[in-house]
Amino acid sequence: MKIERIDVLPLRLPLKAVATLSRGVSRTIEEGKQLVLVRMTADDGTVGWGEAGPSRRWSAETVHSCATSIRHVLAPVLVGRDPFDIAGLHAAMNGELAPGLDPGQPIAKAALDLAAHDLVCKKLGINLQTWLGAKAADRITLSWLVSAPGLQELERSVEQGLAEGYTAFKVKVGHAPQEDIARVRRVIELTPGCVVWPDANQGYTLDQALRAARGFEALGVELFEQPIPMSEFYGMKKLLSATSMNIALDEAAMGLPLVIDLIRRDAVEGLVVKVNKTGGIFYARQLCDLARNAGFKLIGSGLMDAPIGFAASVHLFAAYGIEFPCDLNGPQHIKEDYLAEPLPMDGRQALVPQRPGLGVMMDEKKIAAMALAL
Ligand SMILES: [Mg+2]
Repeated sequence: MKIERIDVLPLRLPLKAVATLSRGVSRTIEEGKQLVLVRMTADDGTVGWGEAGPSRRWSAETVHSCATSIRHVLAPVLVGRDPFDIAGLHAAMNGELAPGLDPGQPIAKAALDLAAHDLVCKKLGINLQTWLGAKAADRITLSWLVSAPGLQELERSVEQGLAEGYTAFKVKVGHAPQEDIARVRRVIELTPGCVVWPDANQGYTLDQALRAARGFEALGVELFEQPIPMSEFYGMKKLLSATSMNIALDEAAMGLPLVIDLIRRDAVEGLVVKVNKTGGIFYARQLCDLARNAGFKLIGSGLMDAPIGFAASVHLFAAYGIEFPCDLNGPQHIKEDYLAEPLPMDGRQALVPQRPGLGVMMDEKKIAAMALAL
């Protein structure tokens, strides 16, 4: 079997709400959720779908860089190759865009990785979770993202999340420790019995992070995501020794080489895995295996994923039986998508799709209507 062609289809999905990170709004309503769909067709006509949906204030890739790299650099070296040799596909892509501390434009590479996984699973007539060879769970629990800057907006957001049936709340922090502690305290007060944890997206200095950690710990918070810049290895170790909370690495956990180096420095206790930031399923599962074998807390997350990235994440996180709520907040923010039928849900739990491949049924008319000229 050979990959015969790869079509690159940039899209803009309308948003119903924005997410605000420590660096600002991840995407404005006007921008929408911009992504690059790829349609990979094999020589027997089997089709696999993937997507790159970067968050430009979260990491260095943009929808423009993804479209350009996929179209002109990555896709051309995959045409003619065997899609079942997924390691070989990554080696070919890495030959063109070199990995560094991260896998080298991982979000662009993830689009092609997902398309190849979708394609081979469809060819075999199995879903991705079956291909992964692990069925620890048939579902994951979703969390609601609280990213409103002001206290009143924060309260409205929490009320909306509760009304929509969410039982887990991730709070974006990383501005000023005292205000952030007050915000997290308020979310905890409003959500009795729910899971609440903060994510600073590298927004604090070490000193601020130590103050924030003391405050969050006093509130009974058990997990704190990426408090300081990913390059501050000394600070990560110091934070871990200063608190009993699990300090989970997200931006610092994009590639295996850096994570392994951080393990050698005793600077890791928890890893946030995202299918897109790691370059796709091929690497994301390696990080999951590493976390499990090392006894680290394993957390599943995303970048406001549209349905293809969302479905791939559900297969992976359920395969590993991740019980902690997953921050896959596409459904909270994306107003309309490209699906011909919705993905399976049970309340605020996402069920593993059972159709072959990722289990995503695409509506080509919707894709055409949301096309973005890039
Ligand atoms: Mg995070």
